[in-house]
Amino acid sequence: MLRLTLETNPHARLLLEALKQSGCTVFNDRHFSCENCDGCVSGGFDAATSQIVLCQNNIRQQSHMNRVVTHELIHAFDHCRAHVDWFKNVKHLACSEIRAANLSGDCTLMNEIARFKFGLKGHHQTCVRDRAIRSILAVRKVSKETAEKAVDEVFDACFNDLEPFGRIPHSKADAKRAYRDFQNRDRYTANLMFCDNRTVEV
Ligand SMILES: [Zn+2]
Repeated sequence: MLRLTLETNPHARLLLEALKQSGCTVFNDRHFSCENCDGCVSGGFDAATSQIVLCQNNIRQQSHMNRVVTHELIHAFDHCRAHVDWFKNVKHLACSEIRAANLSGDCTLMNEIARFKFGLKGHHQTCVRDRAIRSILAVRKVSKETAEKAVDEVFDACFNDLEPFGRIPHSKADAKRAYRDFQNRDRYTANLMFCDNRTVEV
């Protein structure tokens, strides 16, 4: 499933290309690791080793693999292009989680319908905010209030930072378009405080 995502998914291919152009070439056997994970975590980015972990016990569908790989590659891209202080600056983490939720398809309409949230006005922003907060709480021992405050403080700037896509890829067609446009120019810990039937990417 991972190989299929890396070879055929337009989001993943765009991000791999963007990483390469930013001087951070990704090697499949070195930078990806399929592991069993605790709790409801489906993936993680280990900033210390620049390694992406795919939770093989929690990813069962190709579409989910596509989203998790894209989510983690956005963290890898942020790690490559900016001096992200993942561990000490919760706002840096919040910004990358907002971008990952916004751009990975975690909050696309179909996913939201599947979660019975259809009909909420501004559902995309609400979904991105909620998922960013969940991701922070999954990896940092901070209060819900601290996570919410960090996300809200950086939300507008980070939600509108669409690099390297240039647009929010709501569908595969969007991602392919973005890819074409582009061509022309502490490991997670399972200290989850809550865990419903959804998984969380960190
Ligand atoms: Zn994340």
